[in-house]
Amino acid sequence: MAHYNIAVLPGDGIGPEVTEATCQVLKATVDKLDDFDLAFETLSVGAGEYLKNGDPLPESTVEKLKTYDAILLGAMGLPDVRWPNGVEMTPQVDIREKLDLYQGVRPIKLYNEIHSPLRIPQGKDIDFVLMRENCEGLFSARLAKREENSDFATDTMKITRKGAERICRATFEIAKNRRKKVALIDKANVLQSMAFFRGVFDEVAQEYPDIETERIYVDAMALFLVQDPFRFDVMVTENMFGDILSDQAAGLVGGMGMAPSADIGDKYAVFQPSHGSAPTIAGKGIANPIATILSGALMLRWLDKDVGERGAQRIESAVSQTLQDTENRTVDLGGSRSTSEMTNAIIANL
Ligand code: ATP
Repeated sequence: MAHYNIAVLPGDGIGPEVTEATCQVLKATVDKLDDFDLAFETLSVGAGEYLKNGDPLPESTVEKLKTYDAILLGAMGLPDVRWPNGVEMTPQVDIREKLDLYQGVRPIKLYNEIHSPLRIPQGKDIDFVLMRENCEGLFSARLAKREENSDFATDTMKITRKGAERICRATFEIAKNRRKKVALIDKANVLQSMAFFRGVFDEVAQEYPDIETERIYVDAMALFLVQDPFRFDVMVTENMFGDILSDQAAGLVGGMGMAPSADIGDKYAVFQPSHGSAPTIAGKGIANPIATILSGALMLRWLDKDVGERGAQRIESAVSQTLQDTENRTVDLGGSRSTSEMTNAIIANL
């Protein structure tokens, strides 16, 4: 019997609601798989933990997280809970750095045309993966101490050879099993750091002669994502560009409630929706749980290439089947289904 221990970090805002829904779906899925078992343990991390104990991500919790087989995270941060310098607490970003989860894997898939603000041409589909470098880029010096009362502030775009190489390689590896197309998104015409990133990408691309590549400036990509998102398969970019474009990409397929993600390193992995804690809808039972449920599917796939993969496919098919019925829409998708109604519909379709 394959047995996996999962740390569940519900976090803040809608985090507890969407992780609860996901654990229900995962338990129902596991019940249908042979020789496969998950045990869940909940840990407290986030703005709520800071208010209770003064630290949103205690070091002892980070150490404990390393003992689990995988981590399922809801959402973290609250707009009113900030550090003295004015920025929000972002333990979900800190975890990526502490556990070296350099691959931000963000699948974007349109499950039903009515979810998209775009007119979808006959025979076209939105189905791509955005790979976000998670541990450096423009977020790299975000925690650096600054001089107080200075009359300027800077942030640093840090690209290392190691960081660029490993995210590019992971991207090509994903493309190998898809439609074999990779787009690099950068700003190599203006920023030296981005020209360096492109140089490393070009070197890695040579190892994958069967994969078609293109290089697109980030501003042009913002345009292409709206005009012709259908042509993309896998794309890779630095941390901040990935942060922005993944929200835009989510908007093409129904919004943040439809965008799962996996943050993967060589040893550990965290699975979480791409969205934040959405405090304005928290506690109302209306959050869309699908981004987190699909992240749960990514977790099963990462944990176990055989039975886990079958579980992941089962969840993805159930989500797809559920969403074919246009009545099955939460408020963000223009419907009226609650979080629990949506979750139960998915479980019924497993
Ligand atoms: P962060 O900076 O932490 O990523 P954010 O500022 O991008 O957060 P989100 O919390 O992701 O903000 O919310 C963006 C918008 O999407 C809000 O209007 C929010 O209500 C909505 N939203 C996010 N997630 C969901 C969800 N699961 N279901 C319904 N609406 C959602």
